[in-house]
Amino acid sequence: EYDILVVAAGLQQNFNVVPGLKETMGKNSVASIYSLDYSPVVWQNIQALNSGKAIFTNPCTAVNCGGAPQKIAYLAEAEWRKRGVRDSIDIEFITATPGIFACPEYRVALEKQMAAKGISPSVKTNLIEVDGDKKIAVFEKEGGEIVTKEFDFLHVTPPMSSPDFVKNSPLANAVGFVDVDKETCQHNKYPNVFALGDCSSLPTSKTYSAISSQAPVVVSNVQSLMEEKEATRIYDGYTACPVLLGDSQLMLAEFNGYTMEAIPTFWPLDQTKPNAFFYWLKRFVFEHVYWHAMPNGRWYGKYMFFEPWAQHKAESTETKATGPTPSEHAALKAQVAAPSTGTSQASSSSSSDS
Ligand SMILES: Cc1cc2nc3c(=O)[nH]c(=O)nc-3n(C[C@H](O)[C@H](O)[C@H](O)COP(=O)(O)OP(=O)(O)OC[C@H]3O[C@@H](n4cnc5c(N)ncnc54)[C@H](O)[C@@H]3O)c2cc1C
Repeated sequence: EYDILVVAAGLQQNFNVVPGLKETMGKNSVASIYSLDYSPVVWQNIQALNSGKAIFTNPCTAVNCGGAPQKIAYLAEAEWRKRGVRDSIDIEFITATPGIFACPEYRVALEKQMAAKGISPSVKTNLIEVDGDKKIAVFEKEGGEIVTKEFDFLHVTPPMSSPDFVKNSPLANAVGFVDVDKETCQHNKYPNVFALGDCSSLPTSKTYSAISSQAPVVVSNVQSLMEEKEATRIYDGYTACPVLLGDSQLMLAEFNGYTMEAIPTFWPLDQTKPNAFFYWLKRFVFEHVYWHAMPNGRWYGKYMFFEPWAQHKAESTETKATGPTPSEHAALKAQVAAPSTGTSQASSSSSSDS
């Protein structure tokens, strides 16, 4: 039993849904940074490649950190250049998404980076099969055309989803994510349930930096609920993605994931241009933040160590159509706890059932 539930269960990597992929992971020059088991193999494969075709893929599903599938391509490209084998390697970045990055301003900038580095992008092209022994990857383009490519190096970003236990629970929306209000992070049906991060339905990129802005909202709204008040603090869609480009350069893409507008913090720096300052910021400051400030609730996303003025939505006087108010919920819970009242659990509270 619980009074309040906060769900932050992350994503599940589904290597098994692409035929042939699971069987060849970690072998035949196929690996992925999206798995603890296979990420060391990515580095070994980069080191082992001296010539041929290198393919980096990105699926049509939501993934952790939309930029990571191409970051690894930039890092590999830099390494091959450093080793003097770059001219012998043909690099392709093949994504099932309509563009290589969600926010248009950074997408244009990243397309330029790819062009400058000689990485060929293909969009709307989904990996559908891998034959590891023959080193062949099969793709389906929008419209159904099937394209077969031989590879000497394959980095796969697997299709992902919310974990099965979330997907199959009453908390999930139609596509399996915990169905929460995009501002308050409160469940749309069960007011005593909140979700944040990758397993939530919050319609923005699934990044740690977005979560750093979602977490204070959830904390504040849970506190409101405990005080029998309405959850009114709102998450505005702030999202960031530090795109490593190799050569100690980084593009710090900060944007509103709800409106897709770029919202750079570091004026007057042009954040569509990579630089070494952001690289060192990511490498040392963000690492410290990750281990020491974020887990202690001392990091507020774009406001860094300073808690911002909380943004609130106007308090509504109406009861949410789909769920009880906090006091109604408490009353229902009391009824469930006291079976002598004759109220059946199934009919009394959807919140308890969740
Ligand atoms: C390769 C890679 C690079 C990335 N780079 C960046 C970056 O540069 N910047 C950035 O902002 N973000 C980045 N991200 C994204 C970031 O890591 C995620 O967005 C973030 O970790 C999601 O946090 P979460 O709490 O939602 O889920 P997770 O961090 O996945 O945590 C979920 C937790 O729930 C646990 N769990 C799952 N199921 C159960 C269960 N049944 N019972 C109990 N516990 C359970 C899991 O074990 C896990 O500990 C990257 C991600 C990857 C994979």
